[in-house]
Amino acid sequence: MTNLEAKTPAHALLHPFPVEQGELVVGGLPLSRLATRVGQTPFYAYDRRLLTQRVAELRAILPASVKLHYAMKANPMPALVCHMARLVDGIDVASAGELKVALDAGADPREISFAGPGKQCRELQQAVAAGILINIESVREVTELTAISRAAGCAARVAVRVNPDFELKSSGMKMGGGAKQFGVDAEQVPALLAEIGRHPLNFEGFHLFAGSQNLRPEAIVEAQAKSYELAVRLASHAPSPLRFLNLGGGFGIPYFPGERHLDLEPIASGLATIAERAARELPDAELVIELGRYLVGEAGIYVTRIVDRKVSRGQTFLVCDGGLHHHLSASGNFGQIIRKNYPVVIGNRMTSTVAETVSVVGPLCTPLDLLADRMQLAETQVGDLVVIFQSGAYGFTASPQAFLGHPACVEVLV
Ligand SMILES: *Cc1c(COP(=O)(O)O)cnc(C)c1O
Repeated sequence: MTNLEAKTPAHALLHPFPVEQGELVVGGLPLSRLATRVGQTPFYAYDRRLLTQRVAELRAILPASVKLHYAMKANPMPALVCHMARLVDGIDVASAGELKVALDAGADPREISFAGPGKQCRELQQAVAAGILINIESVREVTELTAISRAAGCAARVAVRVNPDFELKSSGMKMGGGAKQFGVDAEQVPALLAEIGRHPLNFEGFHLFAGSQNLRPEAIVEAQAKSYELAVRLASHAPSPLRFLNLGGGFGIPYFPGERHLDLEPIASGLATIAERAARELPDAELVIELGRYLVGEAGIYVTRIVDRKVSRGQTFLVCDGGLHHHLSASGNFGQIIRKNYPVVIGNRMTSTVAETVSVVGPLCTPLDLLADRMQLAETQVGDLVVIFQSGAYGFTASPQAFLGHPACVEVLV
């Protein structure tokens, strides 16, 4: 035990995994046995049952007419996308690489949409050939898609991604409002719609995405209401009636001490109001929300093994075989302004009553490689398993795996 105070208060988080005989149980296996089954640490494990449960919970509360899409950049693991494709109404992709995974997963091309700045000509060709919906984000894309449609003899299915004239309040990451590389500014959309109307393109609707990781329901409700209003205003300039309206998402999950689960009730009733109005004002439009993190984030854990214990000037460091090169977000270097600890436990000592204040670090030669900064954890030995919760989104593929040349991490769906 050190005499250092824990740096942050404990997480209020109740993790969704059972505990048996002192071990976290993941996919029906005690963690140490799962680690043997996987064949190595570090690894990510995603729980099918939790993914299914999360979608079912959302469906139970959201209006039945609102379609649920999975934004797969949050976690593009092919087996997971396969699982999600059967549960949700559509998949949102952000590149031709993701499009391949979605199509391989069996997603219906009619229910796949493609957003992202800087779509390349080859990617647009692939998207038109696949018959998916393309969210246009610039005039160049209109020009390219027109040429591609003519050459292919089939009209591209397009929607316009609108950069709204408002911002999503208290969002972790703002992706709409103000000057942005995403979408087309709302005030430029009427001219773009006229341009689309002059070409052999199949216009279907609008896509608005205001931001990510929002834990304030009233901010999400407001953004969705404003998005809807904007879409109605812009619809009067559209070359054909709206058949598709994607109102975004941005639902957050709790990561840090003091954060709570998002209250879905106000969001569901806000969407119900929008759905009622849409039935009158935009009768042909299918309403969609697209969620990444909220669907998969809490179903995943990252597991790394302690390879060394060191005490430096009174502070204990647990040195692990994994670090920021696998889990950049947990190190605080993926969009955090002030570094805070993710929820971390010792997965094979869940019922230990002996605690100590330790820092969990990785094997990289940089002080940024910090997975837990002075947290109260169960007392450990070399060989124990450190678990980071809330790791199902923006983990594996959002981390610089090649940095320092350590062995690759693996992912399992359990
Ligand atoms: C990243 C992204 C999402 C998913 O965001 P989450 O915060 O993970 O739900 C949805 N739509 C678009 C356009 C995105 O770029």
